[in-house]
Amino acid sequence: MELTLTPEDRAFRDELRDFLAREKPKDWSYPAGASYFELCATEFERLRAWHRKLYDARFIGITWPEEYGGRNAPAHQEAILSDEMIRAGAPPTVNLLGITLCAPALLHHGSDAQKARYLRKLLSGEEIWCQGYSEPGSGSDLASLRTRAELRGDHYVVNGQKVWTTDGAYADWMFCLVRTEPDAPRHKGIGFLLIDVRSPGVDVRPLRQITGGSEFCEVFFNDVVVPKENMVGHPTQGWEIANTVLGYERGSQALGSSASFDADFELLLEQLKDRGAGRDPEVRQRAAQLKIELAVLRLVALKTLARMRDGAAPGPEASMGKLCKSELEQKLYSFAVDQQGPYGSLWDGTHAVDGGRWQGAMLWARAGTIYAGSSEIQRNIIAQRVLGLPRG
Ligand SMILES: Cc1cc2nc3c(=O)[nH]c(=O)nc-3n(C[C@H](O)[C@H](O)[C@H](O)COP(=O)(O)OP(=O)(O)OC[C@H]3O[C@@H](n4cnc5c(N)ncnc54)[C@H](O)[C@@H]3O)c2cc1C
Repeated sequence: MELTLTPEDRAFRDELRDFLAREKPKDWSYPAGASYFELCATEFERLRAWHRKLYDARFIGITWPEEYGGRNAPAHQEAILSDEMIRAGAPPTVNLLGITLCAPALLHHGSDAQKARYLRKLLSGEEIWCQGYSEPGSGSDLASLRTRAELRGDHYVVNGQKVWTTDGAYADWMFCLVRTEPDAPRHKGIGFLLIDVRSPGVDVRPLRQITGGSEFCEVFFNDVVVPKENMVGHPTQGWEIANTVLGYERGSQALGSSASFDADFELLLEQLKDRGAGRDPEVRQRAAQLKIELAVLRLVALKTLARMRDGAAPGPEASMGKLCKSELEQKLYSFAVDQQGPYGSLWDGTHAVDGGRWQGAMLWARAGTIYAGSSEIQRNIIAQRVLGLPRG
């Protein structure tokens, strides 16, 4: 489905196209098989320089208020932005977790002083953020988290551990869920605290993955002192704020992926046609089904954007987009690898098809049905909070 563009939308798109034609690094191509977070870990400064150019031209955070570096643009222009970036083959930007997750928390719940202190540096990529939610034993059951923040005078003292912290190895700041009132009902005793990762007592340990990369860390807090003014909202409002963030996290995934999945599907289709594989009835059936699901993903993404048009947070419906995106991602890239026959088992070396890009995407797609809440959790949310069915 295409957006119907107003004259303002067309002017925005044309300005962006001119910018990308002029400024996009000429020597850029997406390294085969690398996930976004792997790329950030290995090409960080190069991507940050590109990010900075986009920021200076106000093509990052376009829906934000102008005073924090945005353009007050309507939410659907995010779809135009995302489509044009993919169309131009532009490099990705950095600080994804800061911009898509921490910033909405600050914009909806932060004090004026917090907005003034953090938002511009976050948007420009000067300060990089990571997300401290999960703990050993507290993933899907996030409200069971135990990292403790104890108020002592004008500061908190934080003790505990986070895990699976994406970008933790080079982040400057963490937005972190902490238990502020251990005796309160578990959803009510949580705060949303901003922690300087370079503070004494913070120990960041990269986790080595099967791919060889280290995109995630475990982070330990030993008597870490955090100023009281770093608490966002009320010290027991953390669960509400976390849900705002999760809505954005899930909602943004459908939109961010729709254009790139479409582009990959078209590329795959061309390859299949060139090889005459379209005569195979199974290939035809699977390709047709994928086309339908890609259209559904696009519609769900646009629906989330429509809800955000008036400044509303995405809400529980965002789980539908997250579910569509992550399940479709696995189907799309498994289909791509299946079409390679025995070559599908090669992801590097001279015989790997397209340098192993499809294999990398297929393996990375396994993570999509886990992070930001697993598929089972998304279905629970849709059943209870969208459909109004009782808890099991
Ligand atoms: C690539 C990646 C990046 C991540 N980045 C971050 C990050 O930056 N910051 C951060 O805080 N966390 C991060 N995480 C962690 C992520 O949020 C958790 O992995 C996720 O919430 C699942 O928790 P868990 O791994 O503890 O699994 P568990 O909660 O132990 O779940 C195990 C299985 O049980 C199922 N299950 C659990 N409860 C239910 C239920 N009630 N009903 C039905 N099924 C259920 C789950 O669906 C899953 O299949 C990341 C994870 C991945 C994979």
